[in-house]
Amino acid sequence: MGNTATPLSDRVILVTGAGYGIGRTAALTYARAGATVLLLGRTQQALNDTYDLIEAEGLPQAAVLPFDLEETDEDKFIELAGLIEQHFGHLDGVLMNAGVLGQRAPLETSHWETWQKVMQINVNGQFALIKHLIPLLRKAPADASVIFTSSSVGRAGRAYWGAYAVSKFATEGLMQVLAEEMENTSRIRVNSLNPGGTRTSMRVAAYPAENPASVPEAESIMPAYLYLMSPASVSVHGQALNARDLCAGLNAE
Ligand code: NAP
Repeated sequence: MGNTATPLSDRVILVTGAGYGIGRTAALTYARAGATVLLLGRTQQALNDTYDLIEAEGLPQAAVLPFDLEETDEDKFIELAGLIEQHFGHLDGVLMNAGVLGQRAPLETSHWETWQKVMQINVNGQFALIKHLIPLLRKAPADASVIFTSSSVGRAGRAYWGAYAVSKFATEGLMQVLAEEMENTSRIRVNSLNPGGTRTSMRVAAYPAENPASVPEAESIMPAYLYLMSPASVSVHGQALNARDLCAGLNAE
């Protein structure tokens, strides 16, 4: 069991989208907290770069898992879970962070292909992944945590956010259904976290006219990501949370 400085020591945490943006910062944060982090993402080089950052700090050795969540063959998800089981035996946490923005456009003119791609990655791929990771989370020696990544447009619809907004509503649904299923049948807690506007390439794509320097860096919301992944949040379950509010509450404690 970890201490205050390293609350995730001896824990194995999988982070999706760990090669860039919030996922990379979260992976580094979890490693600094003592976790062995499994870095999942589409671009191998980006994952290698996150791996190197973890290595450079002398933190627990990470593992790189190149995987495309656009995959439609369920067997590939089964193989992935088998590989993790073979090497690590179980998981203590999963940060479901990977996602794509797709097209900012009215529904009336949204491209069918883009809609399908966003839904495949943000919803169907996430479902297939978490489905096959649940048995590994059940094997965690103590509590385990699943964090889904939401957005403010996944909690109240907003014009021109199209498939992305709808996929985030679906993510909230996935969280709620899984949370109820895990309640009283496991030690797995399941929540969703809205990072809020954060300085990443997705933010730049969504708000091209904005000065990136005016947007907070991912580092600023890491207390929320760490809290939800660590045993301190063991009684938090089935909630739709905002990272900034959570950070403010943790600061006030
Ligand atoms: P980002 O920098 O664009 O990172 C997205 C990550 O998802 C990348 O590592 C990317 O890796 C991965 N990914 C995308 N498609 C994938 C696929 N098919 N298979 C596997 N991995 C895939 O975005 P971010 O801002 O850090 O976003 C992280 C999460 O926060 C997302 O769920 C996003 O919706 C949410 N969010 C962000 C903001 C914000 O202001 N930044 C606000 C609200 C919510 P590859 O490029 O290698 O595929």
